[in-house]
Amino acid sequence: KTFEDCGFAPELMRAIAKQGYEKPTTIQCQALPIVLSGRDVIGIAKTGSGKTASFVLPMIVHIMDQPELQKEEGPIGVICAPTRELAHQIFLEAKKFAKAYGIRASAVYGGMSKLDQFKELKAGCEIVVATPGRLIDMLKMKALTMTRATYLVLDEADRMFDLGFEPQIRSIVGQIRPDRQTLLFSATMPRKVEKLAREILSDPVRVTV
Ligand code: AMP
Repeated sequence: KTFEDCGFAPELMRAIAKQGYEKPTTIQCQALPIVLSGRDVIGIAKTGSGKTASFVLPMIVHIMDQPELQKEEGPIGVICAPTRELAHQIFLEAKKFAKAYGIRASAVYGGMSKLDQFKELKAGCEIVVATPGRLIDMLKMKALTMTRATYLVLDEADRMFDLGFEPQIRSIVGQIRPDRQTLLFSATMPRKVEKLAREILSDPVRVTV
């Protein structure tokens, strides 16, 4: 399998090549076609597998495919991650590919000024990468609206549960329209995560590496 098989546009192919990604990793080979088809996915994969690009690349395609949404405000892609370190890494990966299209990405996590993040979100973005607690704070402050969000990723869901973020995750999911595409990535699938997946994903395809 190659990235060409995914049908990515030339700009995106150039951005992929620029990263030095020559061929898709195992998780990317399995997940990319399914995510690009618009299906919900449960991905059982660890950091280091290349899982980030398997949801970031289709997110760029998803955003570019939504011209009718361009008029509205708020992020189209919403990514939740357990820690600021992971959120920052995902943000960097998203920015690499978003740049080619002028898509704006924001990162929102604890340890940074809430006022600065408020201002950044108010300025507008198509992608937000966040830790659950800080995203809830920003939603309460009305720094952003979720009306435009149609692509939701929960990354390292098991770790988010371990850190006690289940209520925040449920609150965030509850604020995103049900006709969204939802992707859940986790290294392990404890019963509680499995239950959440059953509740918030629709007819998901399971991908394991
Ligand atoms: P991840 O598991 O998403 O954290 O990715 C692990 C590392 O692999 C990151 O440094 C990525 O930039 C890199 N990576 C992701 N996909 C590929 C690929 N297809 N070829 C080479 N490196 C990649």
